[in-house]
Amino acid sequence: MSDTIAAIATGSQVAAIGIIRLSGDKAIEIADRLFKPLSGRNMAVYEDRKLVYGSLENLAGERLDLCLCTISHAPNSYTGENTAELQCHGSPMLLRTALEEMFKAGARQALPGEFTKRAFLNGRMDLSSAEAVADIIDAESVECVKNAAAQLSGAVTVKTDKIYAFLGDISSHYHAVLDYPDEDIEDFLLENYVSGLKDAKRELSVLLSSFDRGKLMTSGIPAAIVGRPNAGKSSLLNALLGYERAIVTDIPGTTRDTIEEKLRIGSLTLRLTDTAGIRDSDDKVEQLGVERSRLAMDRAELVIAVVDGSGNVDDEDMEIIRRAEQASRGILVLSKADLEQQGTALETSLPTVSISSLTGQGLDELEKAIQALFPMPQVPAGEILTNVRHAQAVRAALESISAALEAMELGCTPDIVLTEAETAMAALGELSGRSIREDVTNRIFQRFCVGK
Ligand code: GDP
Repeated sequence: MSDTIAAIATGSQVAAIGIIRLSGDKAIEIADRLFKPLSGRNMAVYEDRKLVYGSLENLAGERLDLCLCTISHAPNSYTGENTAELQCHGSPMLLRTALEEMFKAGARQALPGEFTKRAFLNGRMDLSSAEAVADIIDAESVECVKNAAAQLSGAVTVKTDKIYAFLGDISSHYHAVLDYPDEDIEDFLLENYVSGLKDAKRELSVLLSSFDRGKLMTSGIPAAIVGRPNAGKSSLLNALLGYERAIVTDIPGTTRDTIEEKLRIGSLTLRLTDTAGIRDSDDKVEQLGVERSRLAMDRAELVIAVVDGSGNVDDEDMEIIRRAEQASRGILVLSKADLEQQGTALETSLPTVSISSLTGQGLDELEKAIQALFPMPQVPAGEILTNVRHAQAVRAALESISAALEAMELGCTPDIVLTEAETAMAALGELSGRSIREDVTNRIFQRFCVGK
């Protein structure tokens, strides 16, 4: 028995269409009470997933809309339960009124993610696929969409399930030999499993290494534009954004606080911060701004150091360049390329681009140089980890498999290796959301037909 949940599945804005979903034992019954097909038949007699045109009414029989309804019977639905979906006109008032009527008819408000949670609990999808539903909704770039779409159909778990099954083989074989000594079971020899463990270690390492790029893909790359006052930082921010976001003047110290904006460059999303110019100052407010600039630089995955190419490079410029060199990734921008350049040869390991925010010269080159600093992992869509929980699970599994291999090399007894293998299974099981003990037990019976 499951209680029946209902929710507006589309946003709260006015739109052409608005969808209300129902799931649970009474979903079809409630749809039937409120939706009258124009054919005069009951909704319940229609076959699953057919769109039926009719009148949506309140419990008093007053029409609220003319719309479409579709039902699906358990277990062949998204949640694995009876479900109904109403495709109405997209008026927030209409949708809220219809939802209220559903509550009066016995449904309750669905909690966030509850439809997908039910889909997982009813075995319609594994946990990582369920999480990909949220990822695809939150996706801000085509790459995120493609990756989440592939994970929806289990791209991560297809990889890890193979490893999980292999570890399960080791575990069930070991336990079978130990627990059923009288059965005719092939001896348990650890060396038979070495190459499989090495393959698993390699595959998990590749998967885990995608996470650095994956998390930047979903949350955006924190990037700081730093430089001396008047170097041309705000002008660069405006030029990259394509509109006047920051105030530009020739008065040093104009930008006193940090300004953050999202900027898309190809497949990258930068969370770009224009910082107050970094210099020694007696002004209290400016000092605070400089402090924030330093913080933004420390947090940044990309530091864009701006030096006025038309001016003289001084110690403060060099200090900023050194700090950019120490950042995870840095780039040096020589600004004001439209003016006569000093041509000072700067010794730096940073990729360097000359630009003019005034004429736009060099901006394409700068964007390309930034993209080159964040290459996409060369793996199929879906095999980029973007979720911290998945990364933690893969990391834990990888550590245990490495420890298992080490234990083998040291000549430890099989039980130590087994403990590590089972810990790795538990970690991968957490990723897909399955339970380990039941699984191992099932495997013993399936594989060896014990007790026949
Ligand atoms: P910030 O203090 O580093 O943010 O520097 P701003 O962007 O406010 O620029 C300081 C001064 O340099 C302003 O007078 C700008 O108009 C000027 N400036 C900035 N970029 C360029 C450029 O590409 N060419 C020229 N000629 N002047 C620029």
